[in-house]
Amino acid sequence: MACSHCKGTGADGGTAYETCSTCKGSGVVTRVMNTILGHMQTQSTCPACNGEGRSVTRKCSHCSGEGIVREEEVIAINIPAGVAEGMQLSMSGKGNAARHGGINGDLLVLVEEEQHPELFRDDNDVVYNLLLSVSTAALGGNVIVPTIDGKVKVTIEPGTQPGKVLRLKNKGLPSVNRYGTGDLLINISVYIPEKLSDSERSTLAKLENSPNFQPGKSVKEKIFNHFRKMFD
Ligand SMILES: [Zn+2]
Ligand SMILES: [Zn+2]
Repeated sequence: MACSHCKGTGADGGTAYETCSTCKGSGVVTRVMNTILGHMQTQSTCPACNGEGRSVTRKCSHCSGEGIVREEEVIAINIPAGVAEGMQLSMSGKGNAARHGGINGDLLVLVEEEQHPELFRDDNDVVYNLLLSVSTAALGGNVIVPTIDGKVKVTIEPGTQPGKVLRLKNKGLPSVNRYGTGDLLINISVYIPEKLSDSERSTLAKLENSPNFQPGKSVKEKIFNHFRKMFD
């Protein structure tokens, strides 16, 4: 940080400096050389004042004339909605102080994302895997689905197939550049029971021969086409 005692100048009290006698305050020195092509002028940074044009007559005792002191500062930063992993935010002037009252560096903040337990991100869209029971998928019903800003109720149509994707418009993440908002994509999965009681087994066994429980030709085609689209 800039030393507060000398306001970053490195000179005692912020005033104990004088115009550099070597360069008369210009910060550059001009050298004239005699060459076989005639006089050549070269300009270079003044070595006496390092181009600052002034020299400190009495150094600030708090910073040994450096103009900067080593200190940490805690600042609050504003995170724009829609930032993503790997993005870099630049806080102008919040980096290291420059010596002798120059322009401060910037603080670069690298964004890392924490995983959400139930939602994941696909660009500005948010994806949720909805695991339905066989009966809800067949009979339809209402289910509660998490979104990034609270839960919403979603209606499941009777006969909903696994692999179907429901899209809730604008329920994703806002674009960090403010070009629109992503969607919430609800991927439907159907949970097949892993264990069955005797009565559940006999109920399902009765349904096994029921004509609606066998996928017909048109259903097979529809599901095959949907499946093929996933590989496009
Ligand atoms: Zn100082
Ligand atoms: Zn000088």
